[in-house]
Amino acid sequence: MRISDINQAEVNPEGKYVLYWMIANRRTEWNFSLQRAAWWAERLKRPLVIFEALRVGYEWASDRLHTFVLQGMRDNLAAMSDAPLIYYPYVEPEKDAAKGLLTSLASDACVVVTDDFPCFFLPRMVKAVGKKLNIKLEAIDSNGLLPLRAADRDFPRAHSLRRFLQKELPPHLEIVPQANPLSGKSFPAADPKLIAGVQKKWPAIDADTLDDPADFIAKLPIDHDVPPVEREGGPLAAKTQLKWFLKHGLPRYGEDRNDVEKECASQLSAYLHFGHLSVHEVFAALTKQEKWDLSQISPKVTGSRQGWWGMSDNAESFLDEIVTWRELGYNMCHLRDDYDKYSSLPDWAKETLEEHKEDEREFIYTMNQFEHAQTHDELWNAAQRQLVREGRIHNYLRMLWGKKILHWTNTPQYAAQVMIHLNNKYALDGRNPNSYSGIFWCLGRYDRAWGPEREIFGKIRYMTSDSAMRKLSLKGYLREYSGDRLFT
Ligand SMILES: Cc1cc2nc3c(=O)[nH]c(=O)nc-3n(C[C@H](O)[C@H](O)[C@H](O)COP(=O)(O)OP(=O)(O)OC[C@H]3O[C@@H](n4cnc5c(N)ncnc54)[C@H](O)[C@@H]3O)c2cc1C
Repeated sequence: MRISDINQAEVNPEGKYVLYWMIANRRTEWNFSLQRAAWWAERLKRPLVIFEALRVGYEWASDRLHTFVLQGMRDNLAAMSDAPLIYYPYVEPEKDAAKGLLTSLASDACVVVTDDFPCFFLPRMVKAVGKKLNIKLEAIDSNGLLPLRAADRDFPRAHSLRRFLQKELPPHLEIVPQANPLSGKSFPAADPKLIAGVQKKWPAIDADTLDDPADFIAKLPIDHDVPPVEREGGPLAAKTQLKWFLKHGLPRYGEDRNDVEKECASQLSAYLHFGHLSVHEVFAALTKQEKWDLSQISPKVTGSRQGWWGMSDNAESFLDEIVTWRELGYNMCHLRDDYDKYSSLPDWAKETLEEHKEDEREFIYTMNQFEHAQTHDELWNAAQRQLVREGRIHNYLRMLWGKKILHWTNTPQYAAQVMIHLNNKYALDGRNPNSYSGIFWCLGRYDRAWGPEREIFGKIRYMTSDSAMRKLSLKGYLREYSGDRLFT
């Protein structure tokens, strides 16, 4: 269920190696794709080549995103330094420089395995490569606890996906990727010169550059106005963050998640997005801490959040986010080509927004004003500064951030454009299925109609900075993200 044939070509028995083209699950552990590639290598008795690639020509490519990915390549290089395989990390030095690279590598391979990520330019890219290759290309789904192909419909609300999961998920929880897919495998060791011809034309990025990539990145044709953030990318930093969360965040998660100044959320979304961390690893660590096994799961199908897993309230709240809400977005991207379009909103939301499109707007801002945190609202500006400086916004304020963009733009369609651009440009976890769930949630997706009907919003759920200020303690947050400068 997690394996898809991208083309109809056969395995080439004359090939010299098995190629894993790592494009989304950028890690060596808990990775179904790597597990599958290692399986092929053992079965075909061929060495394994792992090609982790990063292009420059995609929208929103910046120093911030490149640094995060290169930090992951540094960890992957270290993790595979003693493995009997070739790890080939490659960063395109200029646009289209990598043209022909993959087909050259694949021409000597028996089979190519890649990652199945349902969003952004990746599905198009994989499909196009599949057409060009005359050997088998498989994409492997390591996205969620539920395989993407286990559901053949998308879900209008979290409640309906939760019901589906309560019924269908348990057997899938027993099929987990191996924590160390390379350990104990007996494929032949790779001769370091195996792909020398390809690497001569397209040199791998070296360990020194990966240790300190700033000068290298400065020369790339990407957006240098979005600088790296303090948070480190890579599987090692992801593990540290997961440990921090389980010890310090989870015990307060149910109560404090919305409390901006008592930060207790996991802050794992960027690692999950870049594949530096697997949701299966998070789930395994959580269940270990909770001393939980599958027999504790409730057989009832209620759609309700609590009392499903048979874990602590905090763990159940966290699972509702990292399983139900997270996989809602992946399911939508997998099944619908319009996941990033305004037209994908539910009819009631489009109708109510249409009815209110002529409502007078007291404030209207442009993309540029939003980007530079130049609204009249200090809390909104602070959230935008956090996004620009740190590549994230606290979850509660992220909802407010989106809702106010709807309030202060001349059309809801333009509001969607502003949110997509700013989120994907600055947020480390942007360009993800949940970028679009979050953004379109602000416009009514996965929600119901709310009363009273209001100006501009109509029946769309309304949020205000004033009520956030009343409910939450925000003085420290406002101080931290104040000032005219966007970057610290
Ligand atoms: C306007 C807007 C834009 C958003 N853009 C993104 C985005 O680009 N990428 C992204 O991953 N999430 C996005 N979200 C969802 C959510 O804000 C983030 O996933 C969450 O804040 C990440 O912080 P965390 O890892 O500390 O979350 P935690 O609270 O620790 O949750 C654990 C994990 O569950 C998932 N999750 C949590 N909340 C949600 C949610 N509401 N919807 C879907 N999955 C969720 C994430 O994978 C997260 O890492 C957006 C939400 C809004 C309102």
